Amino acid sequence: MTSSPAFVCSMCRKPIAVGGKAIRCSVSTCNSGRVKLVFCSAGCWDSHLPTARHRSAYFVEEIARRE
Ligand SMILES: [Zn+2]
Ligand SMILES: [Zn+2]
Repeated sequence: MTSSPAFVCSMCRKPIAVGGKAIRCSVSTCNSGRVKLVFCSAGCWDSHLPTARHRSAYFVEEIARRE
């Protein structure tokens, strides 16, 4: 059993544990390529919107798994 997190929040750098809640952006450019954005909370997802300049976006909650 290891306590290393599955992800680190792309916004606040808080670790997201395996089995914990992870939030992803619905926009495909945030989920593909080198930068896969994942957030610890809706608030962190919200704060990436001004920099991402999406025309329409929503977030998807999922259970964090090690990739
Ligand atoms: Zn965060
Ligand atoms: Zn995004």
